[in-house]
Amino acid sequence: SERTLVLLKPDAVRRGLVGELIGRYETKGLSIIAMDLRTIDGELADRHYAEHVERDFYPPLRAFVTSGPMLAMVLEGDAAIDVVRTLNGATDGRKAAPGSIRGDLSLSNRENLVHGSDSADSAKREIALWFPDL
Ligand code: ATP
Repeated sequence: SERTLVLLKPDAVRRGLVGELIGRYETKGLSIIAMDLRTIDGELADRHYAEHVERDFYPPLRAFVTSGPMLAMVLEGDAAIDVVRTLNGATDGRKAAPGSIRGDLSLSNRENLVHGSDSADSAKREIALWFPDL
């Protein structure tokens, strides 16, 4: 069993999709270990997206993820990191496969509803960043 960090981004909260999205992870069989609704500042955004801060797309991404509350959670289950990324679908909602969260519910490359850790190292780093007491 494995743990991963999932963020329901501000577009998910604004659009009233929190219940739908949590439901997808839960019905897949993942367990909720921790959960927190939080509006982050630019400093936490920069730490979370450390690998992207120099990219052209980062300033608008930073503005987006600090624009309102996000629901952060730690999910646990067998192969949770890959399972969440499969459920989430490809980064660009315009290209993500139907059946995935982004494929079904997003039409944007930036406002793509969810984040999931992309490796065991990222999961460890991100869980420590968002839930230092866990
Ligand atoms: P996440 O890390 O959020 O799960 P991801 O791993 O699919 O998404 P990354 O390549 O790590 O995608 O990019 C992180 C986030 O940055 C994306 O989820 C998206 O919100 C935004 N992003 C990535 N590429 C672009 C782009 N070309 N234009 C606008 N926003 C982008």
